[in-house]
Amino acid sequence: MSRDPKYDILFEPLKIGPVTAPNRFYQVPHCCGMGYMRPQMMAAMRGIKAEGGWGVVCTEYCSIHPSSDDMPFPHASIWDKGDIKNLRLMTDAVHAHGSLAGIELWHGGQSSANLYTRQQAISASSRPNDALVGMPLQTQAMTKDDITELRKWHKAAAQRAIEAGFDIVYVYTNHGYLLNNFLSAEWNRRDDEYGGSPENRVRLIREIIEDTLEVVKGRCAVAVRYSIPAVPHQDPDDLVGMFSQIAELPDLWDITVTDYTLEMGTARFVEEASNQLAVAKIKSLTSKPVVSVGRFTSPDTMLKQITSGTQDFIGAARPSIADPFLPNKIKHGRPDDIRECIGCNVCYAHDSLNAPIRCTQNPTMGEEWRRGWHPERIAKQHADESVLVIGSGPAGLEAACALGQRGYAVTIAEAERELGGRINQESRLPGMSEVARVRDWRLGQLAKMDNVAIYPSSLLDAEAILELSPTHVFVATGAHWRTDGVGRHSASPFDGFQDHQVVSVEDIMGDEIPDGRAIIYDDDHYSMGNLLALKLRQRGTAVTLITPASLVGGWHSYTDDQAAVMRQLIDAGIDIIYNRGLLSWQDSTAQLECVFTGSVSTIKAEYLVPVTSRIANDSLWHALQPFAERFKTLQRIGDCAAPGLIAHAVYAGHQAARELGAAPSQPDDNRRERKVTELKIVTP
Ligand code: ADP
Ligand code: SF4
Repeated sequence: MSRDPKYDILFEPLKIGPVTAPNRFYQVPHCCGMGYMRPQMMAAMRGIKAEGGWGVVCTEYCSIHPSSDDMPFPHASIWDKGDIKNLRLMTDAVHAHGSLAGIELWHGGQSSANLYTRQQAISASSRPNDALVGMPLQTQAMTKDDITELRKWHKAAAQRAIEAGFDIVYVYTNHGYLLNNFLSAEWNRRDDEYGGSPENRVRLIREIIEDTLEVVKGRCAVAVRYSIPAVPHQDPDDLVGMFSQIAELPDLWDITVTDYTLEMGTARFVEEASNQLAVAKIKSLTSKPVVSVGRFTSPDTMLKQITSGTQDFIGAARPSIADPFLPNKIKHGRPDDIRECIGCNVCYAHDSLNAPIRCTQNPTMGEEWRRGWHPERIAKQHADESVLVIGSGPAGLEAACALGQRGYAVTIAEAERELGGRINQESRLPGMSEVARVRDWRLGQLAKMDNVAIYPSSLLDAEAILELSPTHVFVATGAHWRTDGVGRHSASPFDGFQDHQVVSVEDIMGDEIPDGRAIIYDDDHYSMGNLLALKLRQRGTAVTLITPASLVGGWHSYTDDQAAVMRQLIDAGIDIIYNRGLLSWQDSTAQLECVFTGSVSTIKAEYLVPVTSRIANDSLWHALQPFAERFKTLQRIGDCAAPGLIAHAVYAGHQAARELGAAPSQPDDNRRERKVTELKIVTP
């Protein structure tokens, strides 16, 4: 298919100093949980982005020296020959598709605890180390000699980057890391020529840009990652003024905003293209090309950034994770096939958990090397056989999509009139509309497949399935929320759980809401408890949110929106009680126990909504067990097997579809990157 010519401008090459990007699609540096520990995994993942049409593909933050070690977080490093060799894998994979490879040289400063190297962390002034919450360690204020050393380290790393084959070398000045420590008037308390006035605070950045240009000698481009406030005139550090002093120095500017929760915000709080006021400000101050992110998923929004002169490249991290083939889909006139990011930050959460990233929308993310999964290609069917998928939630839809792509004759049976399972109600919760993309993208793909038949309003029982006699059966019948309070805090139900004033999560989502004050008892610790509280509050209900934890929605800390959730709850006027477990519910009174002391207190409300854990809807799967030999496959998938995130259900559906008719996957599950030859023990 040919593309709409209006998008041609997105495919125009553009010079970045001495190198030329083949188009305007630019995967900015983003963490991936792979880093120096998993070079093959990283190279395969980045290579696929280049294959998918990203004209520039960058590393994650890449340490220049052992004094910048972010353990336990999996960063890249370019310390030695071994790193050069490993990173070569990535540059070769990217170059194989005609794209440019960029490296983000990084020194963590006050944000690297150096847990592995045990080196003293350094920064502009001595400060508490903020690499990890409450780290009881301060940084060492850098002397002038230390600054000289740092410049040498950066130059040497740039030299190694050239040897590794990179085309773009970054100077990284934001996100709270070392060079950012110098720019910040709050953190930089020096009284020499590197502190005080804006001119002094930007001096080290100027020197390092000049050093890097000197080292690369026109063999590759020098990019600078820099942040200004989202509202550019509210600028206490004078970041805009400092930018003006170095605006013409590098070959490219990679611009973000100072508030990371805006730059990286979840879709619940931050819309597409939210930071472009700041980007436009920067663009007006430099003649050099500018790239910036904005969680761009709409080709028209991307186009507008270029035609309005806001930026020259469409920067992306998350959209390139959700769909590594986004550029090629626009290029070949298939914009409807773009698997749009839903802004859930499940990818980021896994990096925060020190693990390779995964993606709700793209189950192949992070599995390119380990399992050999390609986001667009999948093996053809192993035999001309029929498959029945029961349930059209994320697991069922993803399984049907991948099985349909493989060429099987697929039937989807869904009990409800509306397809989509849990997505339907969850996407109607406050701020969650983009979750619907999980359902809609899959329905769009299925609509194009002649070999997939979809039957809504079809509640199947074991008898009906035996009558249909499909060869393979996937049971994707989901899960439902418990109302008895069983969860992390308590493995047994609370007294009074059968009271009619105990209301289910599904009832609240389905607008079956009693009158009067509500208690939400949240022992789930992700979004459901706080979203229901907000939903009720928006209807004018008085709400008390009670949790046995000392934090509401603790898992939001990994998706980096816990503070935004708290702001929302406080602004909405929701009462919050921490560190209390639910003991009983009787006569409109909840009895609570302090999780530390066991002391008992009570609170009154008209009804109680327990949000604790879920029960798999696996009765159909159990009912089919006596007839298992009638099918070649009888497998439960997604929440029906193990309730979890939407990402888990999508992954389970995809894995089941990939593995149908294939050899068992166990050897792949064990595939790890570790050196198993030439090992020896060296004792002191
Ligand atoms: P998952 O997240 O694992 O995909 P969901 O709860 O989102 O699970 O989806 C499960 C879907 O299965 C729901 O839409 C539900 O209506 C449907 N379903 C459950 N039992 C049956 C059944 N016996 N026959 C057909 N559809 C069913
Ligand atoms: Fe987007 Fe969520 Fe995928 Fe991250 S995990 S890329 S936020 S859909």
